[in-house]
Amino acid sequence: PGELSDAELLQLLLAEPGDRALQPGDSGKPNSSSDLPLESFSEVLTGDSAAEKVKRKRAQTPLEKYYLKYLCVTDLSTQSWCEQQMVYGRELPQLQAPETVVLLNTGKSIHLARELEVHDVVKVHTTSKEDSWAIKILNLLSMIPVLQAGGCVRELPVFGVIEDVFLMGIIDELCYSAKGELELRELKTRGRPFMPSGAQKKRDYFQVCLYKYLFDAMVQGQLKPDVLTSHIYLRLKQPLGLQIREHAQKAGFTVTCFGDLLELMYLNLTLSDIPSIDCLKIEYSHQESNTLLGTEVVQFEEEKVREKAQYYLAYWKGQREVQGVEIEEAWKCRSCSYSEICDWRKKRAEGPEQRSGPKKSK
Ligand code: SF4
Repeated sequence: PGELSDAELLQLLLAEPGDRALQPGDSGKPNSSSDLPLESFSEVLTGDSAAEKVKRKRAQTPLEKYYLKYLCVTDLSTQSWCEQQMVYGRELPQLQAPETVVLLNTGKSIHLARELEVHDVVKVHTTSKEDSWAIKILNLLSMIPVLQAGGCVRELPVFGVIEDVFLMGIIDELCYSAKGELELRELKTRGRPFMPSGAQKKRDYFQVCLYKYLFDAMVQGQLKPDVLTSHIYLRLKQPLGLQIREHAQKAGFTVTCFGDLLELMYLNLTLSDIPSIDCLKIEYSHQESNTLLGTEVVQFEEEKVREKAQYYLAYWKGQREVQGVEIEEAWKCRSCSYSEICDWRKKRAEGPEQRSGPKKSK
């Protein structure tokens, strides 16, 4: 199979009403679908039967409460900074400091500009939630031959399951180094012209480690078609929309239903000889001057990544209460948009006995 012509990167044009997506911190209103980035959103459970609604009311885990079928890698890395802040960000986005919003939007624009250096972005009309996922899968399929040929790809979608929760993310860039090692490069743009603190780096390390975890599992054949259908309730037999089929055809794939595409994804990933990621790098650059501030090389320790993911996912699965920062990281509260209303902070001021729950995994 060939790649999409001119390395096109497909993007969602019209989300099907039943496939609404929430931005972290969104109030639940549908987003302007024409500018949906692939990763920033988590998907919404839709079309529930009355019995499902009752079940959710009875035992609402945060995943159920926020109507999420899956989480993004950035949900977990944001959570690792302060879980309570991540929850407030989801529930009260209007309280977020305007400068934070500007910083995030500028970062997004820089990422898009880099993406456009190597891809033409093509808007695609979708008619079902399977179509939306088909876009991600076609993007992935278009990048496999590029990687096989030793090339460089940007905005590569990754997904998989950790602790029975479906996760997805977008890798900024994958390239081969001069030594022939497969290298992940994550770009972080900063408002301030210096490198981030150790705590910020730790959050970013976790993010890239999760990307490697998911990517390696994919090329090792662990992303079987039923993983997507069982976790996100996608229908194998759902016919793909006309525009999706046309784009698949252009890329050399003849597909009619969603299951065809899943099979192709599985076969292409497992039969490709793409290696696991050898090296993780994070590049920090200054937004205003566009100068590189420094590069961090991240050590991947699988056991630690699993442990951390288990800890954060326990919150989403309703196995423990939300937690704020530990006392030694209380400095984070000084620059937090939610410090005035934060329950965790209030309880901490009242005394240690007010807080409960397991200690955060380091
Ligand atoms: Fe987290 Fe502190 Fe902000 Fe509360 S005030 S959300 S504990 S950073």
